[in-house]
Amino acid sequence: MSRVVLVTGGSRGIGLATAQRFVALGDKVAVTYNTTAPTGDFLAVQCDVTQEADVERAFAEVEQALGPVEVLVSNAGITKDGLLLRMKEDDFASVIDANLTGAFRVCKRATQSMLRARKGRIILVSSVVGLLGQAGQANYAASKAGLVGFARSLAREFGSRSITVNVVAPGPVDTDMTRSLGAEKLQAFADLVPLGRIASADEIAGAIVFLASQDAAYITGAVLPVDGGLGMGH
Ligand code: NAP
Repeated sequence: MSRVVLVTGGSRGIGLATAQRFVALGDKVAVTYNTTAPTGDFLAVQCDVTQEADVERAFAEVEQALGPVEVLVSNAGITKDGLLLRMKEDDFASVIDANLTGAFRVCKRATQSMLRARKGRIILVSSVVGLLGQAGQANYAASKAGLVGFARSLAREFGSRSITVNVVAPGPVDTDMTRSLGAEKLQAFADLVPLGRIASADEIAGAIVFLASQDAAYITGAVLPVDGGLGMGH
């Protein structure tokens, strides 16, 4: 198919696994990284999604090298966990800025060319936590729940132009984000999952690639849980 695909936060974890899947399909792939450039058969551009100017520059670089973005995977995300009473306003605002407003920035920029092309695919990476809530993650859960309303609004705005907008909601995944929690906490998460284990990044990438595929042409505004049964339909 060889589409132009842009994955934000593609330097590691779910984003890198997703980029590698699209590369294997023969697509022209660009990833953004914030701090450390990854290596692979893709274009890597620096972009802090909290900075509008970075987003503009990154899209311009991708367009010049590969062409207009046809598939956007908004994946960059952070956590700053803490119980509400101890959470600083900046811990709340900065997580919303990176996870939710960051998605707004990249989607707004990507839809410019998608609208002209009258086609496009947008996949937003949320979390089961956005649907179930999680003690100690009020900021993160709010940002991830916000992505659902955001995506569904875009799905309605852009449906008539054949642009689909969907959300993937992973459960716990084996990446730097969860490894930082430590083995004991990770095992406790795995024990809550009906499938009894945490996911590999590639298992999330598979769902993202599906939502960008021809087989998903009639799916928009959906939230696809990839959580081993943890959310049970939420
Ligand atoms: P990760 O390994 O920590 O990677 C995070 C990625 O986001 C990195 O590429 C990082 O870039 C990038 N990033 C962070 N802040 C950024 C910013 N301000 N601007 C641009 N890029 C930024 O995380 P992951 O586990 O793969 O998570 C990917 C997505 O899946 C996130 O949205 C996360 O919330 C979501 N998710 C993860 C899990 C899980 O269990 N791991 C579960 C559900 C949902 P650098 O490498 O340059 O810092």
